[in-house]
Amino acid sequence: MPRHAGFAGALTVRETVFRIALKAAYANGNFLKKFSANVPGGPPDINADLFLGQPTISCEGLTNLLVLNLTTWGTLKVTVDNVDHDVEIVGELEVTIKPVFDKDGVDIVLVPNVDDISARRWTASVTSANTPTEIVSYITGDQFRERLQSAIQTAISLGIVKLPAIDGSFLGDLVRFATSIDVRVRGDALLLGINAENEDQTTVLNGNIAALQDFAGTHNLAGVVHKDASKFMFDKLYVALNDGIENNDAKLEGFRMRSLAGHYQVSGAAVRPEGSIDFSFQVVPYLYHTRPGKFFQYSGRHQPVRVNTRTWPVLDFKIEHLQTDIERNTLIVIFGEIIGGLITGGFLFSYIETKFIRAESAFSAKVKAAKLGSPQPRVIRTIPPEGGVAVRYAVDQYEVNIEETYIGISVQSTPGAMVLVGPTVVPANYSNETLRYLLRLPSGVFEDDPAMRVRWTIEDRTNNLVLADEDSSLAHHMRMHLALASYPDVTDFGITARLYRRMGTIVNELGIVSLTLHMRGTLPSNAYIRWRSESSNPQLEVGEQTDEWGYLGDRRVRRWSEWHRTDAPCLSVNVENRYRFEIETADKLPFELRLLENHRKGLCPYCFFGGPAAVNARL
Ligand SMILES: [Zn+2]
Repeated sequence: MPRHAGFAGALTVRETVFRIALKAAYANGNFLKKFSANVPGGPPDINADLFLGQPTISCEGLTNLLVLNLTTWGTLKVTVDNVDHDVEIVGELEVTIKPVFDKDGVDIVLVPNVDDISARRWTASVTSANTPTEIVSYITGDQFRERLQSAIQTAISLGIVKLPAIDGSFLGDLVRFATSIDVRVRGDALLLGINAENEDQTTVLNGNIAALQDFAGTHNLAGVVHKDASKFMFDKLYVALNDGIENNDAKLEGFRMRSLAGHYQVSGAAVRPEGSIDFSFQVVPYLYHTRPGKFFQYSGRHQPVRVNTRTWPVLDFKIEHLQTDIERNTLIVIFGEIIGGLITGGFLFSYIETKFIRAESAFSAKVKAAKLGSPQPRVIRTIPPEGGVAVRYAVDQYEVNIEETYIGISVQSTPGAMVLVGPTVVPANYSNETLRYLLRLPSGVFEDDPAMRVRWTIEDRTNNLVLADEDSSLAHHMRMHLALASYPDVTDFGITARLYRRMGTIVNELGIVSLTLHMRGTLPSNAYIRWRSESSNPQLEVGEQTDEWGYLGDRRVRRWSEWHRTDAPCLSVNVENRYRFEIETADKLPFELRLLENHRKGLCPYCFFGGPAAVNARL
C-alpha cells in the first residue's frame, strides 16, 4: 500500500509541531494571556481575573483526541450571600478536543463543535488564607470544572483561544480541491487524509484512514501527494497553460499530469477546428539554486567589483524536455508561439509558502520571504518580536516517484534566554555616574504576570558586603540602578537577578543571571575617537528575468563613524583611509552612562563589547 493510502494527499503532523506553534504564539503575544470575565453558570457568581501560562498540546492515540493543557493563576472573586471572597488559586485545566478538520483556502483548520471540547480534568489549589472551606471545595471541585468547560468551549468557538492550524500551501493548490478531511491520532502524531476531486469528477480520490500510517520518519511534518493528484498540486500551471492557449483562440484538451521517477510528466493538446498540436513536457524539481558570481573590471571605480558564486537550498521547478508534433504540422504558423512561447518563457510558479503551522490567523512574526517568482528558499526563519520565539522551517526532503510526491519538513524553535544587560568594566572617569542594569526576560515570561517576582542583589566584592537586596513583583522592576558615587572605594561589584514565580507557598524558579562589574583606572585623555568619512558603495542588483548580477554604478555615502577607543583600538581605528576627515576625539562618551543601552548603535561593537554578538559593554 502506498503511503497516501488512497487519499489525494496525506499529512503526518507530530505533536512537537503543534507545541512549537503554541509556544511561539504565546511567547510572541498571539495567544490569550489573561482571562478576566464572569465564569458562566452559577450561582455562586464568580468573576475571574486569571493569568494563563504557556499552553501545551499533545496527541492521545488511545482516545483519538488532542489534549490541550492550560495552566492558570490569579484571583476569583466569589460572591456568596452578597459577600465577596477574593480567592487566590493555581490550577491546571486539561481540555480534550476531538480533531475535526476542514479546509479554509489552502489552510487546514481545526473546527471542533462545542460538544467536541471537554474539560476532562481540573486540578486546583487555593493559595489564599482564610478562604471558607466550602468555597475551597467548590472551586477545586467538579461543578466548577463544568463551568470552566462552558467558558473554554465559548472561548475556542469565538476564537478567543486560538488553536493551531496547518498552512497547507506546501501541497500547492491541493487543499482547495478537498471534499473532506479524515483524521486519526496515532502515537504522538496526527494523521490527516485529504479526499479530493476535480469539478468534472474525472479524478476522484478517496482514501482509507485506517490504512494511513505515520510516514514522517526523521522529519516532524510530512506530506504525500497521490500521483494522480499532482495536477491539483500544480493547478497554477494548469490555469496558466489553459489561459495561454485560450488567448490564442485554441482549447486545451486531454490535459494530463502525473508523477514519475524524479519528475512530473505533463501532456495535452492545443486544439482549433483546423487542427491541433500535441505537446508534452517534464516539470523537474530542483533543491538547490546556483547564481554565478561576476567580476566587473571596468566599472570606473578605483578597484573592480566582485560578486561570489552562491548556492543555496531552494525548491524550484523547471520545465524540461518539451516535445510537440509541430514538425509534422504546418499549423505552426497559425498557432504561432502558443506552446513554445508559454513554456520556454518559463513558468515561475512556486508554491512553498512562508509557514506551515500557525496558531493565529494573523501570523505576527515577520517572515523573511523571497520575491515571488524567484526560487523559493527551503529554509525559512521567522523574526520574532524582542524576547520572542523564532521558528525555523525547512523542507528537508522533496521526492517524486511513480506513486507519489513526498515532502519532509522539519520545524524547530529557538527561544530567547534570560539575560542581564549592563556594563562589566567601567573606567574611574565615570565614578560619579549611575549605571543601569536591565533584565531581559526569557521567552514566554511577561512583566505583567502577577505571580512573577524578581530579587535584585548588589554585592561589594571588594569588602564582601551586600549593598542592596530587593525582592519585589516583576512589574516595574525590570531594571536596577547603581550609583557609583556612593561606593568610592569599591572596585568590584556583583549584580544578580533571580526570577521566580510565587503563588501562595508554591515557588517556581525561572533562573538566575549575574555579572561582575570591575572599576578600572582612569582613561588617558582623548580616549574616544570618531571621524567622518566618504565611501563609495557599489550598487549591485540581480535581474529578475536573467538571474544575473548587474552593476548600477556607485553611491557615495558620507557619514559619521561609530565611537571607537584609542587605548585598545579595533582594527579599523588606525587604517589608512584618504576618504577619512573631520576626526573628533573625546575624554568621555557624549551621553550619561545610565543610557548606555540606548546608545549602543553609536558604539563600535569591537572596541566596547568584544564583538557584535556580545551583550555587556566593557568600557
Ligand atoms: Zn572600534
